[in-house]
Amino acid sequence: MSKTEKHEFQAEIAQLLEIVIHSLYTEKEIFVRELISNAADANEKLQFLQQTAGNDLFEPERPLTISVTTDEEAKTITITDTGIGMTQAELVENLGTIAHSGSKAFLEQIKQSQGDARLIGQFGVGFYAAFMVADTVTVSTRSYRPDAQGYVWTSDGKTGYEMTPADDLQRGTKIVLHLRDEEFASGYRIEEVIKKYSNFVSFPIELNEKPVNTIQPLWTKNRSEISEDDYTEFYKYIGHDVDAPQYRLHFNADAPLSIRAILFVPERNTELLTMSRQEGEVHLYCKRVLITPKAKGLFPDWLRFLKGVVDSEDLPLNISRETMQDSALLRKINEVLTKRVLKWLEEEAKADTAKYAKFFAQHGHCLKEGVATDWSHKEAIAKLLRFKSSYTEGEATTSLADYISRMPEDQKEIYFLHAPDREAAEASPDFEAFRAKSWEVLFLEDPRDEFVLEHLHSFEGKNLVATNKANIKLDRPQDRSKSLSEDQVSGLVTFLKEAFGERVSEVRASERLVGSPAAVREAGGGMNANMRRMMKMMGKEDSLGLAEKPEFEINPDHVIVAGLERLRHTDEPLAKQVATQLLENAMVSAGLIEDPRAVLGRLNLLLEKLLPTNS
Ligand code: ADP
Ligand code: MG
Repeated sequence: MSKTEKHEFQAEIAQLLEIVIHSLYTEKEIFVRELISNAADANEKLQFLQQTAGNDLFEPERPLTISVTTDEEAKTITITDTGIGMTQAELVENLGTIAHSGSKAFLEQIKQSQGDARLIGQFGVGFYAAFMVADTVTVSTRSYRPDAQGYVWTSDGKTGYEMTPADDLQRGTKIVLHLRDEEFASGYRIEEVIKKYSNFVSFPIELNEKPVNTIQPLWTKNRSEISEDDYTEFYKYIGHDVDAPQYRLHFNADAPLSIRAILFVPERNTELLTMSRQEGEVHLYCKRVLITPKAKGLFPDWLRFLKGVVDSEDLPLNISRETMQDSALLRKINEVLTKRVLKWLEEEAKADTAKYAKFFAQHGHCLKEGVATDWSHKEAIAKLLRFKSSYTEGEATTSLADYISRMPEDQKEIYFLHAPDREAAEASPDFEAFRAKSWEVLFLEDPRDEFVLEHLHSFEGKNLVATNKANIKLDRPQDRSKSLSEDQVSGLVTFLKEAFGERVSEVRASERLVGSPAAVREAGGGMNANMRRMMKMMGKEDSLGLAEKPEFEINPDHVIVAGLERLRHTDEPLAKQVATQLLENAMVSAGLIEDPRAVLGRLNLLLEKLLPTNS
């Protein structure tokens, strides 16, 4: 006397099911996300009915929960909710009909009565994801309507389904999956999947009687309701970090879509330790359900130090809910988010300079990469750069804007000098003219900086110029009694050209040296010393090309230069040695000789000549 009703799938439906089950999703684990989303929707609908007057509910006191149990022996996973349930007619309509979404219909219905509920379902295919992993799915369900009959629905997802009335069911729906393999009967595996996709659904989830989703989806709350500890706990959870974040930003945007986001900057940048590129860790959610972990297109690569969550209720998702449909829209979202982050970092820099310096020490290299690679944002990112300079002291740094604010009227350009540290920068012949004029010079210690500034080219209308390429002239000293005459200078220049031959491209009297006898200049055009060093560091020695030949400048007011001019008339071989030493000293100072030990041999010879002998 079976009351079982059998329904066979029509041929087209069976075909469609085949596609949904075997080709729609990239990962099998997605079925967990889909069934838990359905359970959350069922609870959400019940909550809506509870809050709307005039609804008579079955078991009105039963709390709204989602529970999951796994059974490795029986190879099953069971997902139970206490939500709205389904009548027999609804079973036929919702589970018996593919691509019919009862949730979408529910939303449309309540919208007409000006209601609102946050339902996840919309496409009417998620349920069938269960058949990716199960041979048989059994659904026992009891509608919230007081006089409804409970039913058990069973299907193999291929041929059809059957329904049998069942008494004594609790309100809601219980779904049992008879699994094809053990993987998803493991509690550990399921916990991992629930935490990944469904950790932030609105109802408590229990797995094998233990609560799983204890962390709140903070982005859905008002900022005023959230404590600092809440944020820290949330960050540690989603950022997999043991430390508190350095900065955080919680914001909403309305265009091009409504977005809620919480973003964090970690205290440390792991790239500095591991030497390998990290991946951005901002996850894209739609209605609290994970769509794309570490979503690629949300931010440019140079903001990959960010961690956090972006949630948009109106994301145009594709039917598998794994990606967004609209790449132009994604670009717009990226633009909105990037601008917001740049503004945020600028505000943080203003609010607390010391804290920002720490931030910059950790993540600055990513911003520099942004200046060098992101044409459309480079000026905005450049505002966030910091450098030591001849004005700042010790480890303190300056922004380009602050540098400009200190520029005297007659200074038109921003100057920078690459040197391993402040001491070397201050001792560099390239700095002398600027010191004499009291013009500030940025001291670049990071080998990337020079490249970045050259790429940036200008900032707020001021050109960025390397000190050794600057066309800067000093007024010569009043007292030139110890200086060489013009004839002596041109004689010495000819002598030096001959002595150096191919080693230099030019020899001339300098107009910018003060305390140094000589200096070399890279004339530009070719690959400069710093870039060559960077290429070597990156292991790209084959693409180095020929080193540029430097120009050699002498300071006609310097005693060594004057002495050299005298010496060349009395002891030409020694004068050549001294000249070569001068050239190499200047090259060491400019970083053009990588191993300064190479010049020590001659220096010793010169010392030998200088010291008295025993004869
Ligand atoms: P979607 O969720 O996109 O609507 P699904 O295939 O996941 O599509 O589900 C189809 C429909 O079946 C849902 O819209 C809902 O009406 C119904 N349904 C599925 N699971 C449940 C459940 N646990 N409780 C009540 N109704 C459900
Ligand atoms: Mg669904």
